[in-house]
Amino acid sequence: MTQSMATRATVTVAAELTDRCDRCGAAGKVKIGLAGGGELTFCGHHANRFADGIGTAAERVVVESGFGWKGAQPI
Ligand SMILES: [Zn+2]
Repeated sequence: MTQSMATRATVTVAAELTDRCDRCGAAGKVKIGLAGGGELTFCGHHANRFADGIGTAAERVVVESGFGWKGAQPI
């Protein structure tokens, strides 16, 4: 598998996210701020599934402490 996960977003860690996944309603693990001003929250499943898109679309990314988001890990 050859993927480049070079996100330009600022990634920070939060102790806990209280938002729910915008896709499925599960507990949010990753919250992103879009360059255009919107915000989206993803559960662990969807955060990893959309890691590529998040990495390119997000300006800010908040990852819940303890969650190993695929998009934040250097390859
Ligand atoms: Zn989800």
